[in-house]
Amino acid sequence: MSDRYAVIGRPINHTKSPLIHGLFAEATGQALEYGAIEGELEGFEAQVLQLRSEGGLGMNITAPFKLRAFELADRRSERAQLARAANALKFEDGSIYAENFDGIGLLRDIEQNLGEPLRNRRVLLLGAGGAVRGALLPFLQAGPRELVIANRDMAKALTLRNELDHPRLRISRYEELDGQAFDIVVNATSASLTGELPPLPAGVLGGARLAYELAYGKGLTPFLRMAQAHGVARLADGVGMLVEQAAEAFAWWRGVRPETRAVIDRLTIPLE
Ligand code: NDP
Repeated sequence: MSDRYAVIGRPINHTKSPLIHGLFAEATGQALEYGAIEGELEGFEAQVLQLRSEGGLGMNITAPFKLRAFELADRRSERAQLARAANALKFEDGSIYAENFDGIGLLRDIEQNLGEPLRNRRVLLLGAGGAVRGALLPFLQAGPRELVIANRDMAKALTLRNELDHPRLRISRYEELDGQAFDIVVNATSASLTGELPPLPAGVLGGARLAYELAYGKGLTPFLRMAQAHGVARLADGVGMLVEQAAEAFAWWRGVRPETRAVIDRLTIPLE
């Protein structure tokens, strides 16, 4: 019997994880089975423990269970602790290990796939939810000149800044961004899921090298349209992040890092 893994979330019907991990397994010659589980709001923890008791070796966790997965774990990486969320679990030596690969997946996509290193750049992250929490540590470790977080709810942004007091990290209200310029602007809000645009002063995008939208498969979102209208050289959505975080989890579980380019190409839906 091959080794078992699964992704759990609610709803789970649109997940690409079984396809991605299936392609990784094929490419690396690893024998594994990777399923998708519709999480139950009442019974999420029992579902995780059941997979483990049936011999499962790990799971990916997606909305809305990342915090509960983090709490269920016995051991948590530094990244997961800062994110207060787990997007991957590993069952080993009787323990549940929690990791968060969302931020490192985003960073790899920006730096390696899109060729835009963060070092010495001014970077703007929109939002202060789970995705931004996951991105903060890897982004700061990449050495930006400045990392600014803008969020509607300033209390949330302030909590983040207080948890990670770092000389290059700054928080800002949207309106205070007016007149400022950034090299890389990342929309890590969930505004695009409902076709909305964060209240970003339009000029902020002028001069940016890259506008990155975390949502994927939605074509040109209002944020990407705004970036396009301001002549931003490079537009990207979050499909590369999705594949890169999966590759990190695969490497963590299996000890072998799969190539991502072909998988990203296969999943990419052109923006226009
Ligand atoms: P959360 O629910 O944790 O946070 C949502 C954030 O979006 C908050 O900061 C909220 O601001 C902000 N927001 C929501 N609507 C608006 C709006 N209309 N204008 C401005 N800000 C808004 O979500 P996540 O952090 O988990 O996810 C964020 C996005 O990233 C989603 O689109 C998700 O699909 C995507 N994602 C993509 C991944 C990938 O692999 N590509 C992985 C993980 C997430 P406030 O606090 O002020 O309410």
